[in-house]
Amino acid sequence: MNTYLPPRGMRDIFGEDAEIYEYVFYEFKRIAKLHGFKPVYTPTIEFFKLFAEKSGEEIRETMYVFKDKAGRVVTLRPEVTASIVRLYLRSLRGWVKPVKLYYVAQCFRYEEPQRGRYREFWQGGLEVIGVEGLMGDVEAAYAASRFLESIGVIHKYVVGNVAFHRAIMNVYGLPDDFQEHILHLIDKRDVDRALRELSGRSRDASNLLGEFLGIGLEEIEEFLNHRRSILGDHLDKLLFEYERLRGFIDILNKMGYEAEYDPLLVRGLAYYTGLIYEYKAKSGDLRISIGGGGRYDGLSTVYGGPYEYFTGLALGLDRIILALGNAKVAGRVTAAIIALPGIPMEEVFNVKKLLEEYGVSSSIIHVKKIRKGLSIASRKGYKYAIIMGVREFSEGKVSVKDLETGVQETVNIKFLPLYIILRV
Ligand code: AMP
Repeated sequence: MNTYLPPRGMRDIFGEDAEIYEYVFYEFKRIAKLHGFKPVYTPTIEFFKLFAEKSGEEIRETMYVFKDKAGRVVTLRPEVTASIVRLYLRSLRGWVKPVKLYYVAQCFRYEEPQRGRYREFWQGGLEVIGVEGLMGDVEAAYAASRFLESIGVIHKYVVGNVAFHRAIMNVYGLPDDFQEHILHLIDKRDVDRALRELSGRSRDASNLLGEFLGIGLEEIEEFLNHRRSILGDHLDKLLFEYERLRGFIDILNKMGYEAEYDPLLVRGLAYYTGLIYEYKAKSGDLRISIGGGGRYDGLSTVYGGPYEYFTGLALGLDRIILALGNAKVAGRVTAAIIALPGIPMEEVFNVKKLLEEYGVSSSIIHVKKIRKGLSIASRKGYKYAIIMGVREFSEGKVSVKDLETGVQETVNIKFLPLYIILRV
């Protein structure tokens, strides 16, 4: 075993990559706050049973599950939504609705690692609690789109509604776990097998679902109305779900986003009850989903709470960073302060403080010889070297060298930040 390697699927993030991660996290949080979402932090480890029931076949299979020292069965969270519902039920029920929450959190799934798929990855999530109507869905989705735009990721939506698939299987009395299995197959794009297995239980259900999977958005209303006698009590709810699906696509289009309907989109998570969507990057070569979301109304009842409306999404921040390609983070102006022997330490920090007040990031290099200091500063990639030598300092001055152009000038300390800022 090479002891320098992290476990498979796990990564060290450092250097420029780490700067990009920080920038993306910062932007996500900034936009979430601008849109009225409040931050939450939930534990990385949760009880296994929190996820066991409603996370879906695929995620269940890939969870890191273990016993803690007291024998409790716990898991590294594979996603955060279940924790959000737990948190809501435990502590936020008294908050005025809608409750809008955001998080940036590490998640863990024991999947086969590949480009854009890791065993530890970061999700940025937005959740809206207590809104029955479409506005809740759009508020979360729009904030996510604004975030993606702010970092330059051109994206589109793929939209579906799993309420139809579920209702068709409910009509024929198929049990929940079997429904999950069929949805899982459709999610894997193995439609033939899904319909075949469904047919083994109910040929009518298989025919009806097969037909539904083949029609476009404009045909759904007619499809539903023609199946009035079969759908019975489900019809009204499905017409409402159709309106939500169409409304979601319409409003996104009106706001200038590409959004297309896909009847095969069901998503891997078993808790979705209605509208679902995924984000795809349009630039770059990353064709996998960079995020997804939807309605999970009533998930609160699974944990013994009252029925509540939930909608939200999670963006895969690692994949979004891949979609950014070779983007360079617009860095701060950086300076190395080369402090030569004889300069009092507090004076070095006074210069640092002065720069800090103007947003210039600086680092101190304490050396005996200027040449050595300049060599370190340029190898570390600083834009400026500020040389503090005894003679100039006694006159209230320092030397500033632009490490990119090589130009060096003597500057009065009082004017140092302005000198640097005006030159950029
Ligand atoms: P999900 O919780 O499955 O809906 O996933 C939401 C988003 O998280 C996906 O669209 C991906 O962008 C991202 N994601 C899921 N699994 C992984 C993974 N193993 N590695 C990196 N990103 C992931």
